[in-house]
Amino acid sequence: MKKQSPLQKITHPLFDRHQLSVSIKRDDTIHPIISGNKWRKLKFNLRHAKAHDYIGVVSFGGSFSNHIHALAFACHQQGLKSIGIIRGEKEYASNFTLSMAQQWGMELRFVNRKTYRLRENTEYLAQLQLAYPDYLIVPEGGSNTLALGGVGEVITELNQQCEFDTLLTPVGSGGTLAGLIKADNNQHNLLGIAVLKQDGYLTEQVNTLLGDSLHFNNWQIMPEFHRGGYAKFSKEDAEKILSFSQQTGFIFEPVYSGKMILALLDLIDQQYFPKGHRLVLLHTGGLQGIGGLIERGLLNANDWSMPTFG
Ligand SMILES: *Cc1c(COP(=O)(O)O)cnc(C)c1O
Repeated sequence: MKKQSPLQKITHPLFDRHQLSVSIKRDDTIHPIISGNKWRKLKFNLRHAKAHDYIGVVSFGGSFSNHIHALAFACHQQGLKSIGIIRGEKEYASNFTLSMAQQWGMELRFVNRKTYRLRENTEYLAQLQLAYPDYLIVPEGGSNTLALGGVGEVITELNQQCEFDTLLTPVGSGGTLAGLIKADNNQHNLLGIAVLKQDGYLTEQVNTLLGDSLHFNNWQIMPEFHRGGYAKFSKEDAEKILSFSQQTGFIFEPVYSGKMILALLDLIDQQYFPKGHRLVLLHTGGLQGIGGLIERGLLNANDWSMPTFG
């Protein structure tokens, strides 16, 4: 996992027609299980946990969370315990994502929506810390200031791999974009595609993570490409992602990286990027999510293949 993730050229007739050069940063290949941005965000969190003699990590997620999946495996691999506070009912424990998390030793605590909403509340977190004094508490999605340095390594790697104008990334909680912004330090345009409905709070969230928001002026979150909300997509959206995958040879899922692809295709249609523009797409991984979507009948198992994990 010390090697940098590869950068590969994507070819597509639409890119040729608009004279765009498009490459993809394959963070989905970082590791077969802890792929993508969740590995990047956890790297310094787990290092911190070990350096400060925590015995494990407590964190939060939905029942199909890429973060929970990655955290369970990464802790298992690093000899740390893990506890997942999961929004939802105990029945979810046997689903695709959570059954694997438990195999890797994660203890699950199911909470209702009301309790889950307290996940950033200072008092609630203080109580949680009292209940688990030897555990490092990491926020939902792994997005805290420790996450920024790990994500920033994407920029360090890209600077060695290519020259480019704009980097595109999907945005969920904002930690990934914040890490990219900080490391990029105004060298390139950074375009975040919000994968959920929000009224500007993601921009605020990114500014909070950055601390120093005035210094960075080269980034933007595009709010109009969420396709109905978090994890929502139409049959046509899924087909468009699948056909883009078949045309290019790269696999995307419809919750994060696929929404970035749909946004890219729309932006190109709107002639958003000038001729000759050099784009890099950050493939943030998360392909385990396909398993849960098939399980819930939201994707067709004949078209989409179930990821397998050892
Ligand atoms: C969590 C996740 C994102 C969003 O990252 P944030 O740091 O939460 O904005 C993007 N892509 C994938 C595959 C993810 O799992």
